[in-house]
Amino acid sequence: MAYRAEYIWIDGTEPTAKLRSKTKILKDGASLPIWGFDGSSTNQATGDKSDCVLRPVWSCPDPIRGGDDVLVMCEVLLVDLTPHPTNTRAKAQAMAEKYADQEPWFGLEQEYTFYKNGRPYGFPESGFPAPQGGYYCGVGADEIFGRDVVEAHTDACIDAGIEISGTNAEVMIGQWEYQIGPLGTLEVADQLWVSRWLLYRIAEEFDVMATLDAKPVKGDWNGAGCHTNFSTKAMREDGGWDSIIAGCEALGKVTAKHIAGYGHDIESRLTGAHETQRHDQFSYGVSDRGASIRIPWQCEIDKKGYLEDRRPNANCDPYVVCGLMVETICGALA
Ligand code: ADP
Ligand code: MN
Ligand code: MN
Ligand code: MN
Repeated sequence: MAYRAEYIWIDGTEPTAKLRSKTKILKDGASLPIWGFDGSSTNQATGDKSDCVLRPVWSCPDPIRGGDDVLVMCEVLLVDLTPHPTNTRAKAQAMAEKYADQEPWFGLEQEYTFYKNGRPYGFPESGFPAPQGGYYCGVGADEIFGRDVVEAHTDACIDAGIEISGTNAEVMIGQWEYQIGPLGTLEVADQLWVSRWLLYRIAEEFDVMATLDAKPVKGDWNGAGCHTNFSTKAMREDGGWDSIIAGCEALGKVTAKHIAGYGHDIESRLTGAHETQRHDQFSYGVSDRGASIRIPWQCEIDKKGYLEDRRPNANCDPYVVCGLMVETICGALA
C-alpha cells in the first residue's frame, strides 16, 4: 500500500518565519526522497528561479492520519544542495558538531495563545476578562479555555514519539505551555518545530487558532516565551555548579547578540514588568523569575544541574536560540 509523507518546512516570511507543508505519496516501503517546492510563493526565491529543495532531517509517525503515514521535518536547500539563506538549522548543526563532546541538552517551554472569533480564547466580546491571577495552572470553566485542544495536541505528540514532557495553563487566559526535552541541540529543535505544526493542525479541528506571538495583548497581560533550559555534561555531573555559573557569566557578555536572535518583538515582551529581566539588561540568580537567567533551587542544593534562559520569545526559532547557547556557553567552557 502507498503511504503519505507530510513534508514540513520553515518558510521565508519576515519578521517571523511560518511553517508550510505538503503531502507526498510514496510507494510501499519507499524511503523519503529529497523533494522541492515553489520558493516564489514562500518568500524564498524569485519567480524566474523559483525552485527550492526539501531535504528530510527528522521524521515520525503521523498521529493524525495514522497507519504507515509520517510527518517529515525538512531543511531548505538551494538547487546546488547548499543551505538556503533561510536555513538556520545548518548553523545550529555546525555548533552541535563542534561541541558534541560537551553533550548539550535542552528543555524548551513553548508558550502560546489560542484565538477564537478574532480575540484571545476566553476574552469577552467587548472589554476584558478578570485580571491575571487565577488562570495559571487553573481549573474550571470560568478560567480555562481550550483544554480539549491541549489534550488532543498532547496525545498527538505522544503518538508521534515527540519528547513532550509536560503541559500547563499559563498566566494569561487562553494561554498555555508545553515542554519538549531534554534532548540534544538538533533533536529538541526539530521536534519543537514538528510539535508546533501539530499544534496548528490539531487546533484546526476545533476551529481555534494558536499563535506564538510574543505579546498578543498589550498592557498588563503576560507575553509568551520559550524558556530555554540548558545543561552540558559538566553541569550535570557532581561539581557542575562552577560550570553553571561560568555559563551565566558567558551569557552576560553577549546580551545584545542573544536578544537579537530570540524572536521578533522581544522588546514588547521583556519590559521588566512581567517576569524576566528587561531585554537590555542582564542578571542571573537562583529561583529568580525576574532575572534573565534562573538557576533552579534544586540545582543550588545539588550543586549541579542546569540553567534556564528565560528570554527567548514564544515565536523564536529554536535552531537560532539553541545554536547561540551552544556557541556562547560551550565556547566559554571549552
Ligand atoms: P518551569 O518551572 O520554569 O515552568 P518546566 O517544568 O516548565 O519549568 O520546564 C523545565 C524544563 O527543563 C523541562 O522541559 C525539562 O525537561 C528541562 N530540563 C530538566 N533537566 C534538564 C537538564 N539537565 N538540561 C536541560 N533541560 C532540563
Ligand atoms: Mn514551565
Ligand atoms: Mn511558562
Ligand atoms: Mn520556565
